[in-house]
Order: sequence, then structure tokens, then C-alpha cells
Amino acid sequence: MTKGGRKSRGVQSSETKLLPWRPFSDRPTGIWINETVALIKQTGQPELIKSLQRNPIPKDAKFWVLRHLITVDGTKRPDGDNCPCPVCTPNRFLTGSLVWYYELQFCAFIGNCCANDDVLAEAERERKWREKRDHEEDYLLAALPLVASKVTVLDSLKPVALEAVRAYRKIRNTLPQVHEQLRKMKQHHGGQMTLTEVIRDESQDNDDYFGPAGFKGRGKDGVETRDHTFGTFAGHIAVIRDYNPQKELETIHRSLMSVAANAYDQTALDFICGMDEKQRHAAVVILQDVEDSIVKFKARLQDLASFYSRENAEKFNRFFTHDLNSVYYRVEYTTTRGQPTLSFKKGASHYDLVRGSWAEKLEFDWPTK
Ligand SMILES: [Zn+2]
Repeated sequence: MTKGGRKSRGVQSSETKLLPWRPFSDRPTGIWINETVALIKQTGQPELIKSLQRNPIPKDAKFWVLRHLITVDGTKRPDGDNCPCPVCTPNRFLTGSLVWYYELQFCAFIGNCCANDDVLAEAERERKWREKRDHEEDYLLAALPLVASKVTVLDSLKPVALEAVRAYRKIRNTLPQVHEQLRKMKQHHGGQMTLTEVIRDESQDNDDYFGPAGFKGRGKDGVETRDHTFGTFAGHIAVIRDYNPQKELETIHRSLMSVAANAYDQTALDFICGMDEKQRHAAVVILQDVEDSIVKFKARLQDLASFYSRENAEKFNRFFTHDLNSVYYRVEYTTTRGQPTLSFKKGASHYDLVRGSWAEKLEFDWPTK
């Protein structure tokens, strides 16, 4: 493509005899950068600038961009060719970047052929970092002034959590078999109350058996079974092994204080300015986590409250009075002092699970603005 210009500087001569360059152990000054950019534009011949590295540069060498998108006037090129790129090939580009190789300690003018990906990647990293910082600062500016009123709300929820944990423990401690069986229904059947009837057990009967359609296939032990279902109960949280809303509340409180304890005596802005990047990021993560936790705290209490319903009582009654169930209880829905109550009865024994007024205090206002 080019003729004369390319023949004169062969690959071999550039390998045997190195052109001089100026070492830069530190990032060059703005003055030098401005002068060099001016010189590149003025002459159109960066390959003549002695302070730049003009010998071949390894492709994977790391650099920082000093000035991006410098365009050389093509009419100033001696043979109407393009500028040589020290990283790839001669006669390569008109728009490139002035860069500093901080490890190799020199500067060079390299083409977009070699600078562009890195430049874009670096600009993108920089943009993302700035965006994240701005987002975090904005978040904290909005969130920190609300901390005090959130702490007040948490304090007001303490008796609610205490009452709720008592209600939960009453279920678990008064009716441990019921609790355990319902927990199994939650774990194995997604809350669908299921009893399994054994229709035929071939381990005691060696005749060949061809069951009617609709029956479950034979198990590996030759056991034929059929499931009876009684509907899905509400309030799965009531049957987990250890539910502790008090502890949840304390954890939220502690998280809030860990971020804000030092923020009370200064403005949010001063507080944020005094943080380093790590502290700022950690504060945002903690405060966001608090928001998730309070939503979860409320949802779990609502779930527990939904356990004490007439629908549940009816389903439980069919389930626990069925012949196939080894645990027997009659279950009725009543009210005690105006509170929904599940009444479990067996013979002369009688156990009341009373919901409690805590369930009426779940629509608390959580400060958001
Ligand atoms: Zn290149």
C-alpha cells in the first residue's frame, strides 16, 4: 500500500538499533503533556519526538492514558501515510492517545488500534465508580436523617415482638406433636396437609398385583400408597423450629446503631464526608439490609397472625380427626377476649391458642422520607 516510506525503515533496523526516549518514573506533568500534544499536532510526526518511546512496545504492557483522542492532520504526514503505532504496526493511525507506561516508565503516542479498548474500559470503570459513589452519598444523605425516628419505631415494636414470640412458643410448647407434624407438612408438602394410605404391601403378599389406574406406582418395596390431602394451612412461620421476632428486632436495632451512633452529633453531610470509600459502602449495605429486614420482620409477623384463622381451624380439624392421622385433635375456631383462638380438644383436655393483640399493631409507619 505505501511504497517509499515503509521500505526506508525496515523491521530489522528498528530491532538492532534502538531510538532514544526519555524515561518517566513518575506521571508526567500537565505542562509536558500539553507541550507534547501541541508538538504532535503541529508536526504531524510523533515518530520524530525524542521524548516519546518509538521502539516497539509489548502489547500487554500496562499504561495510563494522559490525553485521549488526539488527531493528527493527515496532510502533514510526509508521504501521506499514517502514524506508526509502536505497539502494533507502522502506517497505522491518525487518531491516538498519549499514554504513560507506568511500569516500563516511558511515554508513547499509540493508536486507537491499541489504546481504544483500554481507554474505553478505563473510562467505563471510572464512570461506574463515580456513579456508585454518587449513589451511595445520595443514599446516605437521605437515609441518615431518618435513623433517629426509625430507632423510635423499633422501640415501640418491642412489646409487639415479645407478645408474638410468646404466642409462637405457646403453639410449640403446648402442642409439640401438632407443631412437629405441621412442620413436616411445610417441609415435605409445601404446607399441603397430606396423609398417606397404604393400599397394598407386597412385602407381606407375594401375588402379582395389577393395580387400577389412579393409584400411585409401586414403590421399590412393592408398596402401593395413596395420598389424602386436606388443603394448605396459612402461617407457616408458626411451625418453624425456632422463630424469634425479638431477636430479629434487636439485630435491626444493632445494625442501625452501628452506622448511626456517631452521626447523631453532626450533620449527615459532615458524617458522610468523614467516611472513606469502604466505610461509606459498608454503611449503605447495612442500612439497605435494615430496610430488607424490617420488611421481612413485618411479613413474618403477618404470617404468624394468619395462623389463627377460621379456615385453618376447619382444615386442621379435618386433618387431625382423620383415621390415618396418628395425632388426634378436634379443632375449633373461637374468640377469647375478642382475639381469634384455635381450640384443640382431645377427650377432656382442652388447649387454646389465642392470637393476641400484637397482631393488630403491624401496620406501623416506617419512616421513608
Ligand atoms: Zn496499534
